[in-house]
Amino acid sequence: MTANTKSPITTFSRRQFIAACTSLPLLVKFRFEKPFINSVKGRINASDLGVTLIHEHVLVDFIGADKISADRWKHEEVIAKVLPYLLEIKKRGIKSFVECTPAYIGRDVLLLQKLSEKSGLNMLTNTGYYGASDNKYLPAFAFTETAEQLSKRWISEFENGIEGTTIKPGFIKTGVNGGPLSEIHQKLIKAAALTHLKTGLTICSHTGPALPAQQEIEILQQCGVSPAAFVWVHANGSHDEFQKIGKSGCWISLDGVNEDNVEQNAELILFLKQQGLIKQVLISHDAGWYRPGEPNGGEFRGFTTISDQLLPLLKSKGFSDADVMQIMVVNPANAFAIRVRRI
Ligand SMILES: [Zn+2]
Repeated sequence: MTANTKSPITTFSRRQFIAACTSLPLLVKFRFEKPFINSVKGRINASDLGVTLIHEHVLVDFIGADKISADRWKHEEVIAKVLPYLLEIKKRGIKSFVECTPAYIGRDVLLLQKLSEKSGLNMLTNTGYYGASDNKYLPAFAFTETAEQLSKRWISEFENGIEGTTIKPGFIKTGVNGGPLSEIHQKLIKAAALTHLKTGLTICSHTGPALPAQQEIEILQQCGVSPAAFVWVHANGSHDEFQKIGKSGCWISLDGVNEDNVEQNAELILFLKQQGLIKQVLISHDAGWYRPGEPNGGEFRGFTTISDQLLPLLKSKGFSDADVMQIMVVNPANAFAIRVRRI
């Protein structure tokens, strides 16, 4: 798509967005109190989030929690590399970018704030710890502290800002391995539940298969948290599993869209629509990944496949403008609007 071509996702007016939202019971509750979202530049109205990529990365450092430090990369160099990719999606009508890199694996909120200012995109960052990859990205204290202690750290980031800044998290990000949940991963999810109950932040958990997703949802429910506060990240499973877990009311994040799986993702989205689950579907690329330590940050993957390939394909298969609006605008706003969701 060239810069002059009108993207299929730039055609929604603010009025259409508000009309779509007010038909949703979730947001009707907020008639007197506008739902809001935390971006790295401060609080924004959920209705201003606009077309959103809900799971992407600017920079990821795989060196491990014991060795990571922010002097492994330079802001100017990362910005020079990444900014053109952000401007590319801005041109296509994307307004907001949810950056899903947790602490100890490359979260850099000041870098995100600079990129948000330079690109004009809203950016969201997170609090929480990533236990997937067999705990390589967990700080030492995460092994010994209780769920309550960990949640206090995350709540403090929400209340006071992250790492001495005034930047607040827009959501909780955790990560678990793909099998049955280990004890420490159960603890991370409990900490996320406690943080949610205090802050209203949505919980996005790197998960993958249905089994750990089901177990995470059970822990949240035991803590009194509604599955509507949970995003099943990298959702992967059989159609039956999508139906079963989708029934809980959780968000289903099909966040691995790339040039090789556009058709497959389109089919799955259409299936979820048929099942009446379209109001729970989130889509993104899980792309980006400037890698410190590699020459010029290594190979960086851009964020345009959804605009340029997936949405046109969905439309050719009968997806309406309202459906596109639902998954690109309304669902992200509902998913990330900050409010406590109890069972
Ligand atoms: Zn990711």
